[in-house]
Amino acid sequence: MFSKILIANRGEIAVRIIKTCRRMGIAIVVVYSEADADSMAVEMADESVLIGPAAAAESYLVADKIVAAVRATGAQAVHPGFGFLSENAGFARRLAEEKIVFIGPNPHAIDAMGDKIQSKLFAAKANVSVVPGHVGEIDDTAHAIKISEEIGYPVMIKASAGGGGKGIRVAWNRKDVEEGFPAVKAEAKSSFGDDRIFIEKFIESPRHVEIQVLGDKHGNVVHLFERECSIQRRNQKVIEEAPSPLLDAKTRAAMGEQAVRLAKAVNYDSAGTVEFVAGQDRSFFFLEMNTRLQVEHPVTELITGVDLVEQMIRSAYGEALPFKQADLKINGWAMESRIYAEDPYRGFLPSIGRLVRYQPPQEGKVGKDIVRNDAGVREGDEISMFYDPMISKLSTWAKTREAAIDVMGRALEDFHIEGLGQNIPFLSAVMDQPRFRSGKLSTNYIKDEFPDGFQGLPPSDAQRDLIAAVALSMHRTLLARAAPDQLRQDWIAVVGHEKRAVNVTSDDDGLTIKGARKTNKLSDVRWRPGEATFRGVIDGQAFTAIVKPAPEGFIIRHRAASLHVLVLTPRSAELHAKLPPKKLADTSKMVLSPMPGLVVTLDVAVGQLVRTGEAVAVIEAMKMQNIIRAERDGTVKAVNAKAGDSVAADEVLVEFA
Ligand code: ADP
Ligand code: ADP
Ligand code: MG
Repeated sequence: MFSKILIANRGEIAVRIIKTCRRMGIAIVVVYSEADADSMAVEMADESVLIGPAAAAESYLVADKIVAAVRATGAQAVHPGFGFLSENAGFARRLAEEKIVFIGPNPHAIDAMGDKIQSKLFAAKANVSVVPGHVGEIDDTAHAIKISEEIGYPVMIKASAGGGGKGIRVAWNRKDVEEGFPAVKAEAKSSFGDDRIFIEKFIESPRHVEIQVLGDKHGNVVHLFERECSIQRRNQKVIEEAPSPLLDAKTRAAMGEQAVRLAKAVNYDSAGTVEFVAGQDRSFFFLEMNTRLQVEHPVTELITGVDLVEQMIRSAYGEALPFKQADLKINGWAMESRIYAEDPYRGFLPSIGRLVRYQPPQEGKVGKDIVRNDAGVREGDEISMFYDPMISKLSTWAKTREAAIDVMGRALEDFHIEGLGQNIPFLSAVMDQPRFRSGKLSTNYIKDEFPDGFQGLPPSDAQRDLIAAVALSMHRTLLARAAPDQLRQDWIAVVGHEKRAVNVTSDDDGLTIKGARKTNKLSDVRWRPGEATFRGVIDGQAFTAIVKPAPEGFIIRHRAASLHVLVLTPRSAELHAKLPPKKLADTSKMVLSPMPGLVVTLDVAVGQLVRTGEAVAVIEAMKMQNIIRAERDGTVKAVNAKAGDSVAADEVLVEFA
């Protein structure tokens, strides 16, 4: 076996690969950019080599620098992780010339499959069902229209070199093709340096189901069943699971057989993924093959017990696969949630900044179930603009799908991140939705379920009780410190718009809260003033809530439900009721400064049309530059700040017409 491997990647996937190497007794070298000098991967590795500035084009993507690092450290093989150089046949060839082992498939397989047009030709030849369309390059807009009309609308215009959901556009009619073809071509050119485009049928309301394959250098290829990745935004996966709730044994066998056939056709000799779109009727069509380890590989590892990184290393070394197809079995169910630095309440806009708080849930066995968190960050680390905004991948395993979802729901509750936008409330919402639980998925899921964007979920009755109990407990703790003589039993909790008269008593077991309809018991409270996480047990159920002081009272979130709560004495509640309700200004047509700071640039002018996600201003706060982006399309009506101004939190920067 290799004695030293170099990892040509960063972040969570570098850490993931380190863990397997360590278990196998292999020494680890990581390369890193200036931005990653203090990273967890560098800290964990045995040796590390600086390869240049933050920009990937000047560091992680430069083959010469990787080769030099291998030479300097005496590593025998390179694991490319995913992204960066992982699907670059030129890089794989270069390593071969230098007598360095590439831990991935042979370059012919990468060439054949790395390109969507090429891979479709191969798939069709290997008798794999492909999405109907034009398997070839499109010359110009006129050609694109002709082909689209032959295929029949809707169609999908795609960059042959595309990846990560980029370089894809749906066209419903001729006009969409006229606009979309040049747009995809330009995006392909700038993102991939390759502007070859093809067009295929757009399968409506499909599901994304993919097969994990594994091959060796002795002609053996097996599949490790499927993953379903239908929960996507911007054609990019956010929640994945294995197995798929769609497949029956017959479809699974047929898909697996086609994937293995395709892999064998290109002498595939590593871990890879054959992606399909599937209809609700279980028809399925080949999309592309990813000739690398896949982001969502943990769910396959959890249901098969196979360490895919280990098998990639063994295959690269020349070992034969240690199992045959018949040895592989699906055991239980696994879920994965991608924790992203993005704001689900604002159209999933990417967010950057420091992980001021990073408190993941407990990993390992939880009763009979498993929680796994693949991360490459620690509290205090920064999610920068230079790389993928994924913070971590949270996976759970249990005997059944229902149970795996329950474990995920609880683990997400226990995951606390502060300092930047993050999608945990959104992931929690999906876990709690009856449609997700029923397994009726489609790649339109997010659009179908959140047509007006994500605003959280309405609280259930039990969540209202829980949130009221948390507020009463916090209020009691604060009062016991500040004014113990005012402790009493009768309180009014204003929970959202609802006023509840409650009687609160405390004994060694915790609080008993008697309301008009129900009595709740709150015990095992772990919260101290100032903390954002409130842990406890309500009516026998352990929970974690996220609490924030508001100008009056608290804002308390449990999973995807968030409520404002105010605790008052009966007398002050009467007075409070007489106050005129505070009018909240309509801020939907404004861009507000999210924090107090200094305006570094103001990037828009009156009359300008601004699109969702475009930068409007840069605000410097706490020595960090924050890009403030438009949350909707609009024409600028007024600009209320300029470079050099100091602004307060919630100050209006720009107004739209
Ligand atoms: P999956 O493994 O599920 O297909 P993605 O398609 O989102 O996941 O991509 C995997 C990783 O590779 C992500 O980190 C993504 O940013 C990166 N990536 C994908 N395609 C490219 C590309 N063409 N160039 C650079 N990075 C890419
Ligand atoms: P990428 O390389 O970016 O992963 P894919 O070809 O795998 O590109 O497509 C990404 C996603 O876009 C798929 O997971 C699927 O949800 C959607 N998609 C791609 N092609 C089609 C199609 N022909 N019909 C419907 N949806 C599609
Ligand atoms: Mg894909």
